[in-house]
Amino acid sequence: MTAMSDDCIFCSIVAGELPSHTVYETEDTLAFLDANPLAPGHVLVIPKAHHERLDDLPEELAGTVLETLYQLVSPVETAVEADGTTVAFNNGPAAGQEVPHVHGHIIPRFDDDDGGP
Ligand code: 5GP
Ligand code: ZN
Repeated sequence: MTAMSDDCIFCSIVAGELPSHTVYETEDTLAFLDANPLAPGHVLVIPKAHHERLDDLPEELAGTVLETLYQLVSPVETAVEADGTTVAFNNGPAAGQEVPHVHGHIIPRFDDDDGGP
């Protein structure tokens, strides 16, 4: 399903109906700060179209989402002076996916953090 989903918080963010802190935007993707960050600078990257899981995405859009993640890793790391990043998708409730609109996490990591997610 690609139309906006009325009860999806990430679709509401794309539509500008819910506030978010946008860090980067392309024609088909949006990157914004996570509201409950696991580390400073924790960013979420989503396709603007509503799809639940990574494997629901048309292949070309999956490539576009991954390209946006790729573009952001280094700037995010630099912005918060991180030592590394964890880049991940929780795919399905069993994996801890709470928001059913596919999103990639960029989580800054620090040498002295606790091992993280
Ligand atoms: P998941 O567990 O589904 O992989 O991750 C969902 C992420 O979305 C969580 O890290 C959570 O903090 C974030 N999140 C949930 N609701 C909102 C929201 O309304 N705005 C923003 N910016 N992030 C949200
Ligand atoms: Zn959605």
